[in-house]
Amino acid sequence: MINNPSPKRNTHLRKRSGIRWRYLTLAVLGLVVLCVSRPAFSPQARVVQPPGPLTSETAVVDALPPLEMEPVITVEKRVVRTGDTLYDILKEWGVPDLGILKAAETRVDGIRPSRLVAGRNYRLYVQGERLVEYQYEPDDMRFLKIVFGEGVPAVTVEPIPYEIVRVSVSGVIEGSLFGAVETIGEKPVLAMDLADIFAWQVDFFRDLRRGDSFVALVDKYYRDGEFVRYGRIAAAQFVNNGTSHKAFLNRQQGGRGDYFDETGGSLQRQFLKAPLRFRRISSGFSTRRLHPVTGKVVPHLGVDYAAPTGTPIMAIGDGKVVMVKRDAANGRIIKVRHNSVYSSAYAHMNSFASGMKVGTRVRQGQIIGYVGSTGRATGPHLHFAMYRNGRYVDPRRISVPRATSVPKADLELYKASIRKLDVLLRGGLTEQVAEGGGDADVLR
Ligand SMILES: [Zn+2]
Repeated sequence: MINNPSPKRNTHLRKRSGIRWRYLTLAVLGLVVLCVSRPAFSPQARVVQPPGPLTSETAVVDALPPLEMEPVITVEKRVVRTGDTLYDILKEWGVPDLGILKAAETRVDGIRPSRLVAGRNYRLYVQGERLVEYQYEPDDMRFLKIVFGEGVPAVTVEPIPYEIVRVSVSGVIEGSLFGAVETIGEKPVLAMDLADIFAWQVDFFRDLRRGDSFVALVDKYYRDGEFVRYGRIAAAQFVNNGTSHKAFLNRQQGGRGDYFDETGGSLQRQFLKAPLRFRRISSGFSTRRLHPVTGKVVPHLGVDYAAPTGTPIMAIGDGKVVMVKRDAANGRIIKVRHNSVYSSAYAHMNSFASGMKVGTRVRQGQIIGYVGSTGRATGPHLHFAMYRNGRYVDPRRISVPRATSVPKADLELYKASIRKLDVLLRGGLTEQVAEGGGDADVLR
């Protein structure tokens, strides 16, 4: 039923199918005879295994298998393109309409098989010329599996099988954080993750110095021997201009967890160090130079961040918008009052975020506008200023209270849990100093 080759199948299959089917029929007959003595022969081709979450490489079997061979199962790894539908994908392999319909209307763990998102991966397990299994990955954790056998296709959702390796990665900043991460063979996203963790301690746009260093303990997820992604950083240390900052992921309160230092104090502060998010800056841009400061004018009451037009600007802390206007000098400017003492201002914006008007409440990290070059500006940049009791202050000179710490009741457990991580961090950094170059060491 489901197995029959369909005339609608694509051309390269049709060409081969005549010969293929004759051989296949013979092969099946041969198998019936040979089944008993099976362990004696081993097929020369890829994988002979039941369709399952594990995997062979994409394999195109060009040579026809010898007569007595069981058709091998090959895996085709594909990416959903815009406009792809489950119907078209399955129809290509001759799955009958009723089977597709039955599979499509099943809903497992909130996943609808018919809903495909462009860019996501899917796999086709093909035996001979028959589609035996279809796997689609709606996210990085799970895959939806449709097994085509006798009767109605079976739809299940299973976790993606990863090999997880915890590594210690460390590096020294020469030109940029992205550069340092690239030098040790890691992906740019690791630089972004680090910058997110220490966003309250370090201004990654302006404060990095040659010789700054980092070490991070992080899980690397591999599938079929290929790196897929990082887990959340378990622990990290960042040494900026001689000052060391440590962070440990604490999941005692459940959820995604938050980062705390070695004493159990939160890394989060009332104000972010920079009003731009490192993650939003392309690596190409930030590798250009260490201190992207444009045209410093004296006296210059503020800090300039060169960034591409359209880069989102964040409020550095919770507060209330007290000024939204455009004038000749500042261009589009927003001022936020954080409390009775501090306020901050953001100038030369290309545009305001929607909903920004006097009286609007904003949260820390909320996007309030976009980088531009309105007003007196030589190029796209953000002019950022902070005020204490109405007078300009250097944002780097103010010390602000931290957010919540690890609760007293949990503190002992927390400290015990980070002890081993702390030792590993130290190991990473010592090695860094000794060898002068970072590398990824497998720790377990
Ligand atoms: Zn400025």
